[in-house]
Amino acid sequence: MNVLPLAEPPPRADQRRREQHKLGKRLRHQVGRAIADFGMIEDGDKVMVCLSGGKDSYTLLDILLQLQKKAPVAFSITAVNLDQKQPGFPAHVLPDYLRSLGVDFHVIEQDTYSVVSRVIPEGKTMCSLCSRLRRGALYTYAAQHGFTKIALGHHRDDLVATFFLNLFFHAKLSGMPPKLLSDDGRHVVIRPLAYVREDDIAAHAEARAFPIIPCNLCGSQENLQRKQVMKMLDAWERESPGRVETIARALGDIRPSQLSDPKLFDFLALGARDGALPDAHAWLGGETHDRAT
Ligand code: SF4
Repeated sequence: MNVLPLAEPPPRADQRRREQHKLGKRLRHQVGRAIADFGMIEDGDKVMVCLSGGKDSYTLLDILLQLQKKAPVAFSITAVNLDQKQPGFPAHVLPDYLRSLGVDFHVIEQDTYSVVSRVIPEGKTMCSLCSRLRRGALYTYAAQHGFTKIALGHHRDDLVATFFLNLFFHAKLSGMPPKLLSDDGRHVVIRPLAYVREDDIAAHAEARAFPIIPCNLCGSQENLQRKQVMKMLDAWERESPGRVETIARALGDIRPSQLSDPKLFDFLALGARDGALPDAHAWLGGETHDRAT
């Protein structure tokens, strides 16, 4: 009896390559959609991509470079890293990587580490001041060099986590927008990874073997409140897969008339029969009100 040879399982490497290809396609699609939905990049833009050496910013740069080749508009990309002089920062890693890509880049050297460690008492989280100083240095560089857009590597899960941080700890329905004008009105900041899951970024970073530099060389711990929120989101996602995506979608579908902010929706005018309404705060507070007789 002839025994048919068993079909060989596909080589694992092939399967991995196919999955990576699919993931790359998904990332390009999601980033492209965010760019289109929010008008992030237009013809002639000079985009400064902030590169920290973490998986998010490497992925951002990688996908933007891929999209740049096919984009119907012409825009330039410059990768900018801030060397904050943290102890043990491997200063050669990013320049070596960027040179190997042939990308235009610049490293700003500014010792924010000394400032932060001097100002923040030992044992306290340094991230908030550190990020503020980093933002200041990057924005200043962008202004000096005429960049029209500053691209940051925040992703979908950062947007959702920031929303809950503001909700739980600042009593605000507000988050991290995919595109914003900086406080001084001088910079347009874009977050092209706004639709991308952190898991996908981690998988992509691993597949592409980016030379990751940890962000805790300074020894600082992640902010406790953020950790709490991340833990909550992880638990929700485990219990009900897809919940974080649902929340992320909700952030783009806001109904001011179904909330309770009179600054966003004119509740006073709603159903008012005619003329101006009396100041309800005044008469409810006990002030007399002249009623026409
Ligand atoms: S972990 Fe360190 S380098 Fe990273 S943001 Fe916090 S203080 Fe800054």
